[in-house]
Amino acid sequence: MTAYHDGRFLEIEDCCISPLDRGFLFGDGVYEVMPVWGGRPFRYQAHINRLARSLERAEIKDPYPPERWREVVDGLIERSGLPSPVIYLQVTRGVAPREHVIDDDAAPTVFAMTMPPPNDAAAGVAAITAEDTRWSRCDIKSVSLLPNVLLRRRARDYRAWEAILLRDNCVAEGAASNVFIAAGGVLATPPEGPQLLSGITRGVVIEMAAVCGVGCEQRTVTAAELAAADEIWLTSSTRGIVPVITLDGNRVGAGEPGPLWKRFSDCLADWCE
Ligand code: PMP
Repeated sequence: MTAYHDGRFLEIEDCCISPLDRGFLFGDGVYEVMPVWGGRPFRYQAHINRLARSLERAEIKDPYPPERWREVVDGLIERSGLPSPVIYLQVTRGVAPREHVIDDDAAPTVFAMTMPPPNDAAAGVAAITAEDTRWSRCDIKSVSLLPNVLLRRRARDYRAWEAILLRDNCVAEGAASNVFIAAGGVLATPPEGPQLLSGITRGVVIEMAAVCGVGCEQRTVTAAELAAADEIWLTSSTRGIVPVITLDGNRVGAGEPGPLWKRFSDCLADWCE
């Protein structure tokens, strides 16, 4: 598998990162995941902008100018040997003595790799609801993912694919996805804010709805609305739009992917740029 580390393309087995890297010791870093469709990164600029935003909010200096990021991504696509790889980019605060606060002069570590696309969620999935146990800056795409890992393990224990996270009885997002509901032909998704990641796929679905003349409200979605929805979708870069067919063991709508999902999911690929 092809990787990139601080200026060099190399095989992942040859990649050496110091154990003193703050990403390893503190989870002190941010990341980005970008799918590639037909040789082209899906919504490249939106992903790179979000990486820049995560870095700024994490107070890590962006190590590369825009053209350098493009070289990294294009170089990985070229070397991947896969038709539709997924690109993973990670930037940490760098290698430094083990102190919570360090002077700002450590050079950030850049690590990137290609991964094969997952294919585990096409035909409809089970989801559970769970109390959101994460922190209050979920708008930062941080590599500190311990709560997300635990929540997804909980989902797996219930034979579900995703945990839909609730704060004060309202939907925030999935542990690794954004959430949409459809009720009476109208979509709703929780508004952006520190309680959720501004998903690139979420943004595409909102654009698609506007162009297709389907109502799409960005507003608070209660747990009761979620439970009563005709359709529930989970959106993410690697899986696209995934229909939820059971929630906490109960059927969602007719218990199969809904008509609105089919309409949106069929044309997602046309919304690359
Ligand atoms: N929220 C969380 C917590 C996520 O991990 C992800 C996907 N990585 C998303 C939302 C979806 O974002 P995107 O559509 O940009 O992949």
